[in-house]
Amino acid sequence: MLIPEQQDIAIGRKYAPEIERQMGGRIPNESLQNYIDTVGQKIARVSHKPNLQYHFTALDEKSINALALPGGYVFITKGMLEKLSTEAQLASILAHEITHIVGRHSAAAMSREIGIDILLSAVTTDKTPKGVKTAANLTRQILGLRYSRSDEREADLAGLDYMVRAGYNPYGIIETMQMLQNEQKTRPIEFFSTHPAPQNRLTYLTQTIQTKYFSSADLKVGKEDYHRFVIEQLR
Ligand SMILES: [Zn+2]
Repeated sequence: MLIPEQQDIAIGRKYAPEIERQMGGRIPNESLQNYIDTVGQKIARVSHKPNLQYHFTALDEKSINALALPGGYVFITKGMLEKLSTEAQLASILAHEITHIVGRHSAAAMSREIGIDILLSAVTTDKTPKGVKTAANLTRQILGLRYSRSDEREADLAGLDYMVRAGYNPYGIIETMQMLQNEQKTRPIEFFSTHPAPQNRLTYLTQTIQTKYFSSADLKVGKEDYHRFVIEQLR
């Protein structure tokens, strides 16, 4: 059922440009992109697949979302970046997405719901005869894929471990979850349409921090850096 890493990379490389096209394109600010990439690479290096080549891209899109493609591609939207307020919070989202790549959650969902042969054979132009699947069409399907609740819990807990090992204050994930849940009260948050919210998410995350990472309170929060490299750049 599972596909090898080379296929993951081929699929990520093929669909990353489509995701960018369909989700507002890259935010045209290289200093912001570099900052997101630096934080992401720091976490990727302590992950269980440190040798994979990772790509972190901030998308010019209003929805509050973050997503991962197989093979090392992570995207975060402007809508999400605007709602975060510290580097540790950003790290919590990137670490969560890296875990989906390392655990091959998206690869498994794509293989199950769409099929690897179809994904690899899709054409990249829209000028094709009827019935032929285009990458643009398949990308819409990819964007609709959901992770299972157990994958989601694994991504939360392994992501928490990654962010702490990369030097970030673990409470960043708690603050991020609280922010997302608050936003969800006023309107449906896109992040929760692809990442189902396990019921007791805040409870198990808080418990894990208190039992496993209780001495990490002095790790980096990065409020000033985040403000300078993200919030001020988005104005
Ligand atoms: Zn997730």
